[in-house]
Amino acid sequence: MFARHFVDNDDGIVFVSTNALMLNQPAESSAVGVAPKVILNAVTQTLGDGRDVSLPLLPTVRPQLQAGEFGMQFDFALPEIVRSGIKRCQGRLLGVEEKFSEWSTQHRYTYSSLAPRSYVLEVRAMDSRGNVAEISPFAFDVVPAWYASTAAGVVMAALLLAAIWALMSFVARHRTRRLQQDNLTLESRVALRTKELADANRRLETIAHIDGLTGIPNRRRLDEYLLVVWKICHEQQRPLSMLIVDVDHFKRFNDTQGHLAGDELLKKIAQRQQQCLRRTEDLLARYGGEEFLVMLPSADVAVARNTAETMRAAVGDSTLGATISIGVCCHVPDAALSPTALIAAADAALYAAKHAGRNRVVVCDEISEGAVAAASPVTTER
Ligand code: GH3
Ligand code: MG
Ligand code: MG
Repeated sequence: MFARHFVDNDDGIVFVSTNALMLNQPAESSAVGVAPKVILNAVTQTLGDGRDVSLPLLPTVRPQLQAGEFGMQFDFALPEIVRSGIKRCQGRLLGVEEKFSEWSTQHRYTYSSLAPRSYVLEVRAMDSRGNVAEISPFAFDVVPAWYASTAAGVVMAALLLAAIWALMSFVARHRTRRLQQDNLTLESRVALRTKELADANRRLETIAHIDGLTGIPNRRRLDEYLLVVWKICHEQQRPLSMLIVDVDHFKRFNDTQGHLAGDELLKKIAQRQQQCLRRTEDLLARYGGEEFLVMLPSADVAVARNTAETMRAAVGDSTLGATISIGVCCHVPDAALSPTALIAAADAALYAAKHAGRNRVVVCDEISEGAVAAASPVTTER
């Protein structure tokens, strides 16, 4: 897109702008065969806001004009017009047109909407005798706006790609983090549930092994523990002592004090007995009814007897209003006997204690499978 306008000024008057050369040569210089003078005397850039910018006519550096909405106006002078009778001139702006314009008397060319590229203005004049003169070609470039240049395009494309990459990696990181958080949440939930289940199982297991009234291990726990300590003591050939404790005349206590008072008494007796045990491997369990069983792994008969005496005194010498009888048995487990033989022997000793008058400790020295009832207990009493 371009436009050109011609200004007719062939009335014999020479216009020269302030930055143009003024030539006024004598008529002889335009004699036949001598070229007339034609001089470019103004190059003006008309900006979009209406301002005019004069460009140097002999620029040391080829002018670089930023592409945009501006026009270019080229004025040239014909100083010999009066005397040499110059009639015509023609021009072209290479970059816009290839051919020279028709010969005319116009000496101003204007162009607008110049696309980014290189341009060269050429103008020539011819006098009435056919002599032709040319201006020094005026070259200039229209360069694309910075944002429209190839480099800027490359930079902007790179920035756009970088922004897209940053956005995608941000989204990816965000999603990854959310997934990780979801996983963590899920894992922690699973861990929490697992712990809750484990705790519940432990509680159930504990409940299953604890006597509801006294809070000490129950018969089930006692049976399990007996098998374990029997095996260990057998392997290590260490003694295993067992005490069976029975509350004396507990039926009478219930009858006189009431069943609830009987329950309270059982709890207190359990506590007193528990306080008599020092080692972690010693176990006090409720054997059933008003009977308790104590296991003392690695305790010899002397230790077992002392422990039993301590327990008997802890109950009988207190203000509980009850006494206990205790059967004691101590034995190094061997393959010939089962753990129940130990219980039976201790029970026999308890039976002996009852018959001996109660509130006493009876120790069974010898035990044998099937012959426990025949054991002859050694009785101690207060
Ligand atoms: P002995 O001195 O010969 O052992 O006489 P005893 O009365 O203690 O023995 P007996 O076997 O005749 O009575 C035991 C009583 O213990 C009978 C039963 O009601 C009572 N008993 C058993 N378990 C409980 C309990 O959990 N709570 C209460 N309050 N009484 C119980
Ligand atoms: Mg009993
Ligand atoms: Mg009893």
